[in-house]
Amino acid sequence: MEHVYLDHNATTPVDDSVLEAMLPYLRGRYGNASSRHELGTAARKAVNIAREQVAALVNVQPSQVIFVSGGTEANNMFVRGTAGYLKPTQIAVSAIEHPCVAKPAQDLARQGWKLRKLAVTGDGEVELGDVDEALKEPTGVVSVMLANNETGVIQDVAAVAERVRRAKAWMHTDAVQALGKIPVDFAALNVHAMTLSAHKIYGPKGAGAMVMDKRLQIRPIIHGGGHEQGLRSGTENVPAIVGFGAACELAAGRMPELASRLTAMRERLEGGLHGLGAVIFGEHAPRIPNTSYFAFRGIVGETLVIELDKEGFAVAPGAACSSANPEPSATLIAMGVEAELARGAVRFSLGAANTAQQIDDFLRALSAAVTRLRSMTAVAA
Ligand code: PLP
Repeated sequence: MEHVYLDHNATTPVDDSVLEAMLPYLRGRYGNASSRHELGTAARKAVNIAREQVAALVNVQPSQVIFVSGGTEANNMFVRGTAGYLKPTQIAVSAIEHPCVAKPAQDLARQGWKLRKLAVTGDGEVELGDVDEALKEPTGVVSVMLANNETGVIQDVAAVAERVRRAKAWMHTDAVQALGKIPVDFAALNVHAMTLSAHKIYGPKGAGAMVMDKRLQIRPIIHGGGHEQGLRSGTENVPAIVGFGAACELAAGRMPELASRLTAMRERLEGGLHGLGAVIFGEHAPRIPNTSYFAFRGIVGETLVIELDKEGFAVAPGAACSSANPEPSATLIAMGVEAELARGAVRFSLGAANTAQQIDDFLRALSAAVTRLRSMTAVAA
């Protein structure tokens, strides 16, 4: 059975044009970008072109782009790397950050830092009043994501950054879920650092970037041969970096068209969801165009995801899997959603290859699954 893939916030397929760009570097052009001979300089040239492509998409100088292994590494690098140069004060991160920001921040809290979680509204937007409150304490480091991976809610990062700069702290945004879906402009966001990942924008897994203001003082977390301006040692993953660059160019070229197409499909989906009585999280906040996060009262999200998978539709549960009583999503709990409803969460995330027909087919399968599960619960009760 051909699956309909509706989980693009987890990862995206590698675009054919991206794969074509990568293949030569997996075959004949296998040089180490640090080598002096022709194969090495060809690899170095390819890495530099990719650096220009990534830089162009987020409006920075190529030298501000540090290639790393992905979003997880860039987020760890920011939190640990900036803290490495500061005396412990407060680190403030939003209550809805991805674990690769939240966990290194917790780790700093074990090393003398004070960890402050910034509150969000019921619609999943960081509360600027709480940012002001937090910044009354001496603060070294702040991180607020640009778009949330579960709800898709877009944060007012520029407004947070303005406050953080006034407080003389370093400001970072995790733009992994925003890139390729909405315009991402480093200067307009006014941040000191930003995280990007290739595999969410039709590039390969295992490549990403830390985009930095040159004044940001950051201590490397991986030491070695001094690659990437001494900030991230390790032989460059040339094919993946080339693919990342090609994916950025692809994103730049098609973003407006893609965004309007995905928005129309999401509206079609959410019209149907309302008809079925679903609760949609973050519905009234600005959101990236491809994401819808919803729940049906009385139905466990993971059960619904398994039912839909049997019907050929790939979506994601909002709660940690593999237990009888799954942990509800920390993002939804921070938004004040009751644990019971949060356990029902299902994330639907569209991508470039989805069609309106697939939305209609999905809604039919969803309606049938909800009816089936409701009748089972009624029998059990
Ligand atoms: N940040 C966010 C918001 C994400 O959604 C993800 C991936 O799920 C990451 C960071 C991690 O990126 P990577 O998979 O490239 O390590």
